[in-house]
Amino acid sequence: THYSRAHTQLLQPDGNRPAAVNMSMEGNILVTGTSRGIGLELVRQLAQKSGGGAHIYACCREPEGAGGQALRQLSAQHPGKISIIKLDVADEQSISAAVEAVKQKVGASGLNLLINNAAINKPASPASLLSTGKKDMMEVFETNVAGPFLLTKMLHPLLQSAAKNCSAGEGMSCRRSAVINVSTVLSSIQKCPETFAMAQMYPYRTSKAALNMLTCCQAENFRADNILVAAVHPGWVRTDMGGEQAPLTTEDSVLGMLQVLSTLSSKHSGKLLDWEGNSIPW
Ligand code: NDP
Repeated sequence: THYSRAHTQLLQPDGNRPAAVNMSMEGNILVTGTSRGIGLELVRQLAQKSGGGAHIYACCREPEGAGGQALRQLSAQHPGKISIIKLDVADEQSISAAVEAVKQKVGASGLNLLINNAAINKPASPASLLSTGKKDMMEVFETNVAGPFLLTKMLHPLLQSAAKNCSAGEGMSCRRSAVINVSTVLSSIQKCPETFAMAQMYPYRTSKAALNMLTCCQAENFRADNILVAAVHPGWVRTDMGGEQAPLTTEDSVLGMLQVLSTLSSKHSGKLLDWEGNSIPW
């Protein structure tokens, strides 16, 4: 399914790749939806480029099944650096169990970075008004909104611990304590008149607009704890969701996003940025 041509609008006209990366992600990092696509590439690059003390909690629905195979292979290439955690973000019990498992492993260090990446887009393309029903709306909201909401809520104490462990005077950053919600340019209400005709996607767009509000609420809620919360648009990326016509590889998208993440500070909390660091209006 083709995600949307709208994403090409955010590519540089000369097709430049993101600049070379000086990416120094550290500490305990949790990523959801890492069986394939952008999530798998996030784990790959984080494992390659983060410091020796970094540990990645790669969450996926089916760690032992066929869906988890690529992740298991990746984990085997980085002994001791990646823990695979079973997590279905649409299932509250699964979230509780995953949070408990992570809590046991991280101990007093807490969690430095949570990337809410897992999401679905239903019904299948072109996802027009006529082909969309209540079930699609509810399923998409369960995964794309309720999932990140509950997971972040339950991980909040671990994020607080990580933020507190930082030396006094240090500001907000993705190395200290942060939540990154993977959103999309299609969530932008201001840009809807430009993007609607290319991709109607009622459930997906409304769910990501809700995710943006969640980002703003969490940013305000967690500001006193020094936990940064931002939303990021990965570009239009060649994945199962993005489709074969998407211009960006997962490699370039993630390279850009991790570069952006490494530069975030308190002024970015509660904002939506793209993979090149450009601000996107709500
Ligand atoms: P894919 O469809 O390729 O991968 C989605 C991932 O999310 C898979 O690992 C999938 O796991 C996982 N997932 C889905 N539902 C659940 C669930 N209930 N619990 C746990 N994991 C789940 O998508 P992309 O990699 O393209 O997208 C990643 C993120 O980027 C999403 O948030 C998406 O909205 C966003 N995005 C993508 C764009 C693109 O062009 N590709 C553009 C803009 C935003 P499983 O294998 O088990 O199904």
